[in-house]
Amino acid sequence: MNKKQSIDLEFDKNHIWHPYTSMTNPSPVYPVTHANKHYIYLEDGTELIDGMASWWSALHGYNNPHLNDALINQMHKMSHVMFGGITHQSAVELCKRLVNITPNSLDKVFLADSGSVSVEVAIKMALQFWLSQGIHGKNKLMAPAKGYHGDTFAAMSVCDPVNSMHSLYQGFLPQHIFVNAPKSRFHGEFSLSEVEHLEQKFRRHHHEIAAFILEPIVQNAGGMNFYHPEYLKHVRRLCDQYHILLIVDEIATGFGRTGKLFACEHANIEPDIMCIGKALTGGYMTLSATLTTNKVAFGISEGEAGVLMHGPTFMGNPLACAVANQSIDLLLANDWQFEVERIERALNKGLSTLKQIDGVADVRVLGAIGVVEMIDPVDVADIQKSMIKQGVWLRPFGKLIYVMPPYITPTEDIARICHAIGNAINS
Ligand code: PMP
Repeated sequence: MNKKQSIDLEFDKNHIWHPYTSMTNPSPVYPVTHANKHYIYLEDGTELIDGMASWWSALHGYNNPHLNDALINQMHKMSHVMFGGITHQSAVELCKRLVNITPNSLDKVFLADSGSVSVEVAIKMALQFWLSQGIHGKNKLMAPAKGYHGDTFAAMSVCDPVNSMHSLYQGFLPQHIFVNAPKSRFHGEFSLSEVEHLEQKFRRHHHEIAAFILEPIVQNAGGMNFYHPEYLKHVRRLCDQYHILLIVDEIATGFGRTGKLFACEHANIEPDIMCIGKALTGGYMTLSATLTTNKVAFGISEGEAGVLMHGPTFMGNPLACAVANQSIDLLLANDWQFEVERIERALNKGLSTLKQIDGVADVRVLGAIGVVEMIDPVDVADIQKSMIKQGVWLRPFGKLIYVMPPYITPTEDIARICHAIGNAINS
């Protein structure tokens, strides 16, 4: 590639904000020219095995011909048309699929533009529902510590109150009620002390709580905590007992990542409201959805406002809906469960030996997610440099080096990722 065409890194450094970075001391960024299957290609030709699936989203890898065709076909019909007063085939087909594949009681779909926005919509649904019932005191949320639900304000307000942005935006963020983070591990014993704590919190605060919001089974950005399904069952039971809606944030866990199509299936529970995003379009475009029950939807609609107060410009974007339809069809046609179990075995095999390395606190695997937790925070730039030398793309955070590859990643490339992690830690 000649110099003229190269990506202007100097401009990038001086003018462009990347996620969670500084403008005076930006962390390094790597220029990418294209991506194909489960590989990402740097400008200098380096081929990287993608261990991140672009933050949980690229299930089928990159440049998938079926997803490409879906986009191109839709583009020739219309790229966008407003959703106010108009509907179209791609949105209707998508919502049919979503109603079919999500828990039975979820029957109504709101299409939104990103994960964070779907959480905002879920919170609005919960608040509006109780108002519609003539109950005015339920204007807080309850959430476990170590949760993560996005970067918009209502979503931030239910993220972990200590290790998130709460202190930064003090005085502006609404105050909610937090319970302890779930402690019992997914593969371990369930501790009844968790139930006592939850019961106490529900008993004390239920009159002011509109909804309990949590990430089912995997708390991701708050520490990649894989917790016991019993916890989720008890939360569901207590929500019913105390008249609190349950919002599950399946934005990261949805579409098979944990070994179930949706993680709440591990506990056999159904939420009142569910948020999905990320892998919804197979990683092609931003799109999310908030699903709810007839009870909540009819309640809101019969309330004072009569409508749900949300309507983004790009709601139901036809391109995003078309590619989401194709992604869901491909997922279901490709025996995703088999692929996720295959990756789970490969991650278990490749990561288990890393437990012995000095500085490693824990290694855990669930579905197509592998985590190496270090005792101390890692130097992200250093680890990335080492991984890239070994032909692997990962982006650790805090003490966590974690992997969630596209489901198409061959077993030998999972082994290469695990091997590269071991080398990076050792060096
Ligand atoms: N909830 C969870 C569980 C997430 O992992 C994320 C994204 N990291 C979000 C919400 C926010 O989604 P988005 O980045 O699309 O706004």
